Amino acid sequence: MTQTILVTGGVGFIGSHFVQDALKAGYHVVNIDCLSYAASTDTLAALNEHKNHTFIRGNICDRQHVQNILDTYNPTYVIHFAAESHVDRSIDGPDTFLKTNVEGTFSLLEALRKYQKSVSFKKFIHVSTDEVYGSTTPNHPFTEQSPNLPSSPYAASKSASDQFVLSYMKTYNLPALITRCTNNYGSFQFPEKLIPHMIISALQNAPLPIYGDGQQIRDWLYVKDHTNALMKLMASPLVGEIFNIGAAGHPISNLEIVKNICQVLDEIKPREDKQSYSKKIVHVADRPAHDTCYALDIHKIQNAINWRPRVSLKEGLKKTINWYISHQFWWQNILQGNYTHERIGLGTTKKA
Ligand code: NAD
Repeated sequence: MTQTILVTGGVGFIGSHFVQDALKAGYHVVNIDCLSYAASTDTLAALNEHKNHTFIRGNICDRQHVQNILDTYNPTYVIHFAAESHVDRSIDGPDTFLKTNVEGTFSLLEALRKYQKSVSFKKFIHVSTDEVYGSTTPNHPFTEQSPNLPSSPYAASKSASDQFVLSYMKTYNLPALITRCTNNYGSFQFPEKLIPHMIISALQNAPLPIYGDGQQIRDWLYVKDHTNALMKLMASPLVGEIFNIGAAGHPISNLEIVKNICQVLDEIKPREDKQSYSKKIVHVADRPAHDTCYALDIHKIQNAINWRPRVSLKEGLKKTINWYISHQFWWQNILQGNYTHERIGLGTTKKA
């Protein structure tokens, strides 16, 4: 019999890639998403063509709605991506981060506390971030035992939601996993994030603004490697654990990654004036409390499910840059503010 996965935030960047993988693997996916500014209706239009995909426009903070969805669709797995995800926005206005990331996760946990007795249910996966650990150095990667020392309101809200999930695992025996992944990149990432922001700015011949000296170290993971790890963790018997997910091999500074993007663009789409795109790099005032380095120890997940990243940074960047070059309509719509969900008839809230 076809098993059902309830995915929250499955119209966002990582969630939509996960939904594609789950549909390919033969699952029925029930996708709840409130369609915030970050959701991509183009991914939804493609997903909705699939007979095993059920989209429900809803907010995870609406506990009764989530409860009804669980009771109606009896999912075997619940994979939780829905969140406010952009650090800069959390600095400008932390309220929605508290609301969605903490209260929304809490509301989901409360619904699951009732639902977990269902015979169909096997596991909840809470998709979290390495940013809960704060900042380190490349030689001292975070393990799952490292303390939570979040720097931004975004990281604090994710850390708070992790603590709730941990407490539900212990107090109510909720069969759950927490995953803490490093920075992702790939197709359909909202233009505000570093890699798409730089690709799009370069294609528009605009300045490439880098925070501070650009020496902040990151460990970029291609989005399909992340979703592959989640699919494997989901199908495994593991519960009650935290897993780091990272590339562990590509620590690179923000300045270097932008130079890499420029190099690829110089090769595949040279500027008319023959100058390198890197000429447009400018340094701007640093983000407050900007973490200097993220680095993850990923031995635990490697040993537990024999997972490792498959896509090198070079290959992943090339794929991503080519995707943004061939999908100008997508990001131009976003930049021009034409990107409303109502425009293509997805404006109504469908109750389960
Ligand atoms: P995203 O911002 O692209 O997408 C988030 C999705 O959640 C959107 O479709 C949005 O409409 C939906 N959503 C937001 N609030 C909601 C609510 N209250 N109810 C229902 N839906 C809601 O985010 P992303 O980059 O795909 O990240 C997904 C998850 O992965 C997040 O939990 C994030 O913390 C985590 N994560 C992201 C990264 C990264 O590099 N992007 C790295 C590690 C972890």
